[in-house]
Amino acid sequence: MTIPVTTISGYDRIDPSSSPSREIVIEGARKTYITPEKVAINAIDDVSFSIKQGEFFVMLGPSGCGKTTLLRSIAGLETLDAGEIRLGSRRIDQLPPHERPVNTVFQSYALFPHLTVAQNIAFGLEMEGRPRPEVQARVTEMLELVQMQEMASRKPEQLSGGQQQRVALARALAKQPEVLLLDEPLAALDLKLRRGMQAELKRLQRTTGITFVFVTHDQEEALSMGDRIAVFDKGRPVQIGTPEEIYEKPVNRFVADFIGETNFINTDAVRAPDGAAAVADSPLIITLPGGQSVTLPKTVPTPDGTVTLAIRPERITVGDGAHHFATGTISGLVYMGTDLRCTVLLDDGTELGVRIPPPFDDKATKVGSVIKLYAEPANIRPLMPETAR
Ligand code: ADP
Ligand code: MG
Repeated sequence: MTIPVTTISGYDRIDPSSSPSREIVIEGARKTYITPEKVAINAIDDVSFSIKQGEFFVMLGPSGCGKTTLLRSIAGLETLDAGEIRLGSRRIDQLPPHERPVNTVFQSYALFPHLTVAQNIAFGLEMEGRPRPEVQARVTEMLELVQMQEMASRKPEQLSGGQQQRVALARALAKQPEVLLLDEPLAALDLKLRRGMQAELKRLQRTTGITFVFVTHDQEEALSMGDRIAVFDKGRPVQIGTPEEIYEKPVNRFVADFIGETNFINTDAVRAPDGAAAVADSPLIITLPGGQSVTLPKTVPTPDGTVTLAIRPERITVGDGAHHFATGTISGLVYMGTDLRCTVLLDDGTELGVRIPPPFDDKATKVGSVIKLYAEPANIRPLMPETAR
């Protein structure tokens, strides 16, 4: 199989226009582990979605939600119990790992300690029996790509964690995979180094045009790096979207809670019959703690007559606004430099987080102050109830 390529900045960039449909399609994937205690764990629970060619795709979720299992299934290190994985029109889930045009970078860099940086990068190419001049040219390119030219003859133990990770990346990219799988590759690095490597990975992905499938449990990392993010809960993605969609329009409480900070307000919902429409099809009207009514789209299901609303702390404004929704008392204040983080206690006992941007009014904003809150209706988001599984 040949992949059409064009050369950009020393790397053979995959040209997306020449092969428009080489997306990864996962369909009906399942994987169940049986623990030594004979408990069945549905690590991947009927998962179907696709990853576009050339995108930086992030799989995000708490520990144990099945991210690694799915990534290993794409790599061929794990066998699915059901379902299939395709790359373009080709089914790959039954191919041995080395026949799949994918490569993996793990959290543990797994470099060969007795080989130099250059030898580590060359290793896979030599195993494939590529001609020596080609191997040398490619190693040079890869060293340049990860900016490690000066350290070509060092051994891994003479490198920092970040540098080792760069070598691991160079080694994985050297074989020109169509897809690079990355399982929490930055988790072992300290915060500052991690930020630097995040930018570096974005650059590498753009330069090479390779599809990156990046696993993390860190929501900030996911938001800052992903073209699209799949948020996983208990073995399946519950929402897939751009960082903005995931943040602004979380589909359920789990997503709203896992990504950023969110206030939840439970409130009664009544359906108001309009005209001849049946009650079940009519708009849903809810009343917020401050007495304001909000009409929800007809599509929001409310099984038990209540609905949960999500409002981000930074989307609540203090003062008199057209959409005043509650009055409350400031019960806590934390100064964060960029904003004041307030806890506001409403009359009905609900606690809300509110962020107040500068300039701060010290007189009006102190513990015990009674303040009015408002939010644009578009920023008050009804959540779908989570289906129990
Ligand atoms: P994540 O990468 O999101 O933390 P994993 O894919 O590693 O999640 O694991 C998903 C679930 O499967 C977890 O409950 C984990 O304990 C379980 N699991 C993973 N590998 C095995 C295994 N080899 N045997 C039994 N259970 C496993
Ligand atoms: Mg994992």
